[in-house]
Amino acid sequence: MYDVGHFINGKEVDGRSNRFGEVFQPSTGQQVGRVSLASDSEVDSAVEVAKAAANRWRDASLSARVAVMERFRELLEKGADELAEIISRENGKLFLDAKGEVLRGMESVEFACGAPVHLQGAFSELIGSDIDAYSLRQSVGVVAAITPANFPAMVPLWMIPNALVCGNAVIFKPSEKDPSAGMWLANRFTDAGLPDGVLNVVNGDSEAVKALLAHPGVDAVSFVGSTPVARAIYEMASIGGKRVQALGGAKNHLMVLPDADLSLAADAAISAGYGAAGQRCMAISVVLPVGGVANELVQEIELRAKKVVVGDSMDPSAQLGPLITKQHRDRVAGYVAAAESTGAEVVVDGSDQMNRSGFFLGPCLVDKVSSGMATYRDEIFGPVLSVVRSKDYSEAIDLVNANPFGNGAALFTSSGKAARAFQRDARIGMLGINVPVPVPPAHFSFGGWKGSLFGDLHMYGPDGIKFFSRGKTVMTRW
Ligand code: NAD
Repeated sequence: MYDVGHFINGKEVDGRSNRFGEVFQPSTGQQVGRVSLASDSEVDSAVEVAKAAANRWRDASLSARVAVMERFRELLEKGADELAEIISRENGKLFLDAKGEVLRGMESVEFACGAPVHLQGAFSELIGSDIDAYSLRQSVGVVAAITPANFPAMVPLWMIPNALVCGNAVIFKPSEKDPSAGMWLANRFTDAGLPDGVLNVVNGDSEAVKALLAHPGVDAVSFVGSTPVARAIYEMASIGGKRVQALGGAKNHLMVLPDADLSLAADAAISAGYGAAGQRCMAISVVLPVGGVANELVQEIELRAKKVVVGDSMDPSAQLGPLITKQHRDRVAGYVAAAESTGAEVVVDGSDQMNRSGFFLGPCLVDKVSSGMATYRDEIFGPVLSVVRSKDYSEAIDLVNANPFGNGAALFTSSGKAARAFQRDARIGMLGINVPVPVPPAHFSFGGWKGSLFGDLHMYGPDGIKFFSRGKTVMTRW
């Protein structure tokens, strides 16, 4: 059993609240550690440290900030396997998925290394007699980065590198379910030469989050998590006058037109639906066969789902690992059981995997789901694919657009005309055409529409730079 405390002013410190969260190894179901849950006064002192550091760091030269980021990137590359193992053990995702997460996070670090270009302003000579005008981008101050359990390294890396190169100090609040990856990242930033106090980790639960939102010393809040929490955070932070971006949950559809390559579409449904045990905000959770393809497509997915190998997250032969907690696994399994009782057809039932130790659930495929069922309405966040059959494209796109989430969606087709219509019609932030998980690269930005994002600016990339910096214009007459 290990203890995870906080990371304040460049070093790990013990928690003082005497409140702890349990940390599990999902593959075994055993508790492996405890994490300190910060109190208001611990949040308070972390904010004071960050405020003092922000005042110094904002004046560090761009090349000094980028030099830290370049060294951090090297350390991340060197330690990628070690970090992936930490993620895999505490989160339960397969080692290869965890490694992929680290590599995607590294792309955001590389983007941040381009800060001198990203922060460049504009200059207009002679906008009046002897008058010039130019624009600058400057730091925001102290920013809170509050992250979810499902990507304990990648999502923090969506936020922290851009926040730091823009000259801010950061208070990072990782998920209490898998806090060790966050501590690893903070230690490597210090090793890379980041001055003490510029990045602090406050571990905790909703109490720490509420203290950060209420604190007048926090200037901006970048949040990723479930929709109800994202909405509440957006409301609380904006009432307090803070800049806020809050990314929420998802219900991503994979629409399959009659002219699609069904084998490709079935492969995509398997990897996008069951990858990371369905615990990805870009996971496909609804398969939407259009017209006459439904029976054949469901058969193809069924064949593949039955062959998925379930196992320990560190076992290289496993294709599907456990879910993050027992409580979450039971909730997911509950949706599958309820679907049957409301008239859907469970074609593949993964509940036999619940007999093993660890928080396992095998792949589940539920056919003949309708839009009124909870299986369709709610974000389940597990290895469950729901099939909703549509008679034509118009019925299918109406369903996608009526859904309260708008993170990602994919279309499988061989028609360019249909693809173009989908791209135009879908009220969704990230689309894939014959690509099931369309996560944009680091030089684009990431974000959904509707209930999947509260705020204006998307995460990482150019929007991330805008979020973590403030614009200023200057007019001069000499
Ligand atoms: P969560 O909402 O339970 O927790 C996210 C963060 O909020 C954690 O740090 C947690 O400690 C904190 N938190 C939880 N309840 C809170 C409360 N009542 N008040 C204040 N803070 C609270 O989410 P999770 O289970 O850790 O992560 C999975 C969710 O995140 C899914 O809904 C998933 O779709 C979403 N997600 C979205 C994206 C995206 O980019 N849109 C990316 C990854 C995950």
